[in-house]
Amino acid sequence: MPKIAIYPGSFDPITNGHLDIIKRTQGLFDKVIVAVNNNPLKTFLFTAGERVEMIKELFSVSKGIEVESFQGLLVQYAKEKGVRFVIRGLRALSDFEYEFQMDLMNRKLNPDIQTIYLMTDQRYSYLSSGIIKEIVKLGGNAEGLIPDLVKEKLLEKFT
Ligand code: ADP
Repeated sequence: MPKIAIYPGSFDPITNGHLDIIKRTQGLFDKVIVAVNNNPLKTFLFTAGERVEMIKELFSVSKGIEVESFQGLLVQYAKEKGVRFVIRGLRALSDFEYEFQMDLMNRKLNPDIQTIYLMTDQRYSYLSSGIIKEIVKLGGNAEGLIPDLVKEKLLEKFT
């Protein structure tokens, strides 16, 4: 049985912090599905299609990475895919509070699904998609924090 995990998130847009988490899952799993959340109640800068395309382009030569969008409950989506493992990244204590709540709720909804947490790399501990949008919008330097492709797409949105 291949070991498959889902890495869910908004990825609006994907940052080097997310990429670092994905890279670190390589070798742990045979396949990782990067699942782009398309919750209609949330407002995103990039459409789900745009977010999926960006990530696909970044991983075009990588094996074992699949990218798709999903709506609704993560546990439901994981069940439909037949996947038992979920990956999440942890940056600060604030992430922990939220993730702890989500994990307890997800386990109540589906006890078969296990979430695995990877600590952020120190370089990305203060990095979020939200702060990146602000920096680029205001003309700041996001060097080393996002791939060039993401920078280009952000500049297109803001000009
Ligand atoms: P969500 O809205 O689902 O939290 P995000 O795209 O913000 O979506 O994040 C997806 C996952 O990646 C979350 O587990 C988040 O904690 C993690 N993550 C976000 N930024 C970083 C980072 N800089 N380092 C490590 N993990 C991160």
